[in-house]
Amino acid sequence: MQGTRRRDTPGELELRAALSTLGLRYRVDANLPGMRRRADVAFTGAKVAVFIDGCFWHACPEHGTWPKANADWWRAKIEANVARDRDTDSTLRAAGWIVLRFWAHQDLAKAAKRIARVISNAKARMRLER
Ligand SMILES: [Zn+2]
Repeated sequence: MQGTRRRDTPGELELRAALSTLGLRYRVDANLPGMRRRADVAFTGAKVAVFIDGCFWHACPEHGTWPKANADWWRAKIEANVARDRDTDSTLRAAGWIVLRFWAHQDLAKAAKRIARVISNAKARMRLER
């Protein structure tokens, strides 16, 4: 199920702009190996998948809220999202990917710099393994 993952949220756009500013080339909404899920931003060469998690849909500890109307339905929905996130992470890591998650509320320009460092380390490691 595609669930609540939507393309082109404000956080994704902000992160992608910051990545472009750093000269990084990425794929958007990329299919991931062995699963019917997508990364918000993926670097397939370096095997780095990036997700921007919305505070509400992914239960941010700082800003997540639990609606009172239809409380059971919302709790099940949000908890299923979180469980799917963890499952996505473990499946990707098992396939040799690096998974980076950021909250939509985070400073995404800083996130882009961290992503750049992770990619450059991943590429260096790949060169050594070759
Ligand atoms: Zn938040």
